[in-house]
Amino acid sequence: MTLKDEAILRALASALFPRGGTLPLGVEDLALGAITERLLSQFPPGMARQMGRFLRVCNLLPLFQKGRTFMSLSEAERAEYLSRAAQEGGTLSKNIVMALNLLCESMFLSDPRAQAGIGYDGAPMKARTREFPESPDLHCQVSPDLQPGDVECDVCVVGSGAGGAIVARELAEVGHKVIVLEEGGPARRSDFDGTDLLERVGRFYRGHGFTATFGSPVILLPMGCAVGGTTVVNSGTCFRTPEAVLHEWAEERGLQGVGPEDLARCFDRVEAELHVEPVGDEIMSRNGRVLRRGAEALGVKDHGPIRRPTRDCHGSGVCAFGCPTDAKQAMHLSYLPAAVRHGAAIFARCRAKRVLFEGNQAVGVEADILAPASKRVVGRLGVRAKSVVLAAGAIYTPFLLHKSGYHHALLGRGLKIHPGCGVAAMFDEEIYGWKGVMQCYYVHDLEEKGILLEATFPPPIVTYSAGTLPFVGIEHKELVARYRQMATLGVILSDRSEGRVAFTPWGPLMLYGMTAEDAKRMQEAIEWSARLYFAAGAKRVFTILPGLEDVRSPSDVPKITAGRVKPSQLKLSAYHPMGTCRMGAHPEEGVTDSAGRVWGVENLFVADASLLPDTPHVNPQITIMALATKVAFHLREVVRS
Ligand SMILES: Cc1cc2nc3c(=O)[nH]c(=O)nc-3n(C[C@H](O)[C@H](O)[C@H](O)COP(=O)(O)OP(=O)(O)OC[C@H]3O[C@@H](n4cnc5c(N)ncnc54)[C@H](O)[C@@H]3O)c2cc1C
Ligand code: SF4
Repeated sequence: MTLKDEAILRALASALFPRGGTLPLGVEDLALGAITERLLSQFPPGMARQMGRFLRVCNLLPLFQKGRTFMSLSEAERAEYLSRAAQEGGTLSKNIVMALNLLCESMFLSDPRAQAGIGYDGAPMKARTREFPESPDLHCQVSPDLQPGDVECDVCVVGSGAGGAIVARELAEVGHKVIVLEEGGPARRSDFDGTDLLERVGRFYRGHGFTATFGSPVILLPMGCAVGGTTVVNSGTCFRTPEAVLHEWAEERGLQGVGPEDLARCFDRVEAELHVEPVGDEIMSRNGRVLRRGAEALGVKDHGPIRRPTRDCHGSGVCAFGCPTDAKQAMHLSYLPAAVRHGAAIFARCRAKRVLFEGNQAVGVEADILAPASKRVVGRLGVRAKSVVLAAGAIYTPFLLHKSGYHHALLGRGLKIHPGCGVAAMFDEEIYGWKGVMQCYYVHDLEEKGILLEATFPPPIVTYSAGTLPFVGIEHKELVARYRQMATLGVILSDRSEGRVAFTPWGPLMLYGMTAEDAKRMQEAIEWSARLYFAAGAKRVFTILPGLEDVRSPSDVPKITAGRVKPSQLKLSAYHPMGTCRMGAHPEEGVTDSAGRVWGVENLFVADASLLPDTPHVNPQITIMALATKVAFHLREVVRS
């Protein structure tokens, strides 16, 4: 970045996080140049240039209304301009101000003085009483040691996440020779020991965590990219697919072997392997207790502590940035070590390019070997296999099939994402929501609305509040100063809207437009959250809705659903892409059959989130894992060793 770019950043940051108020520190007191340099060093080299361009555009924005650049405005004018743009501007200017606010808040809260000001010390809820050993060595083969050439196996699995790891282990265990290709690099406990959470996002999330759907609104949709897939960085929440959903899949869609009784042994096996257990009281955050209090006061039927795959969890609350104690039993700590013990080989930083066919038979995979940091292609690997299992996730599995020349009218269609938003509430009491398990308590309304609420409180340093708390400038900063009195939850909406994966020469594009009906349901979810929070004693609930920054009493709650909000006015994120190679009882109803076999092709299977025929109404990883187990059990019967 040039000195001029830095000056623009400083001017914007000073308006967004000015000196003064309860937290005297302002962004101008920080070593902004050094912080930006450190942030940018985690991105590819072109990022600094892009950032510079973005800042110069920001500087020009006021020209249209005020005839002057941002830099030429007085301090008061700058603050007033940003505040107006955030509240009354078009979608673009609102998103720009939100992005800037996120950036500035992240820089502000990364400073130890700001952290001390809000009472954040990063310590786990349960004190560590022992040293933690390094994670098991998966003996991943990576460049430069991984040599280009050709290898052979019984089953080649593409992707090592929730679906792929399960197939690898279940097949290796019965003697099949398995090779796993994984685009991401290995992850180990020591990678998650420090405090630099954003650095981990850069290393273990695809696209540095900046993947999003295009449409109305733009929805942030992060995905993991690591040995272990998204399970390495997910929040760990485990729900079995509700029985009503499985009945629907079995009876109305005619899918084989997906009824509750059929899948019971798959669920049992997965949950036993991962040691799934409910969050205990000793690590339940006050953020979770507040939601429980609200649910009890309102007499909600379905609520409780969230079940998670953990052993000796300390409640450090950073699950989505990799577990520093290996407590969360992600795939690189559970299924993959077992697969490796049974002879499976993992080729990391190896990106499958296409499936190889002979006639209508899949016979292997061609992959690119990637250099460690730059991801430059440094070699080619050919894997010849008797069967190929695609488990690259709901975006990359259909893309890979398309690139391999496979066509199906439903390929990439039917994308569901569980759109969601954060709802924050302010209490008189101190909550310190970041202390304890990040995602720890749920309230569910399956039958009526398909709305799931989960008490979730990411570490303040990752600036969740910039998305959930309103205002900009000193007003927003005052709310950040009271962060320890906030409770937050995440809404998960069982979407009726559908998107698709578009295939471009540069990669997959996620297209998703939210329907007006789903936008209305999102308002209802926020209203329900507000009722729960007021029942728990909240003083203010922040709504994320335009023109209604907060509600201050239960009698104001109906205002949340009073008007209609356009989808483009919502600030949303999503974490559960699925359904893009859905199972179907007949070739015209799905890309795969009920066993995950791709229709019209021999020896080619899908075993990941793409398979889901519809939303499971709950966080999907256990559903994905159970279906992958089912695919693997079928493959055990049919693969010739
Ligand atoms: C921040 C976050 C929190 C979440 N929290 C929860 C939660 O609490 N509970 C829950 O149920 N779900 C959660 N999820 C979602 C859950 O983790 C995913 O639904 C699940 O991991 C998807 O499984 P998968 O096998 O389809 O894909 P993934 O687990 O994403 O695995 C796919 C793997 O394939 C690799 N890959 C892609 N393309 C290629 C290629 N061409 N060649 C080789 N490898 C490739 C990717 O790098 C990735 O490692 C969360 C997701 C996120 C992002
Ligand atoms: S809260 Fe999450 S990150 Fe912290 S120890 Fe438990 S599983 Fe690991």
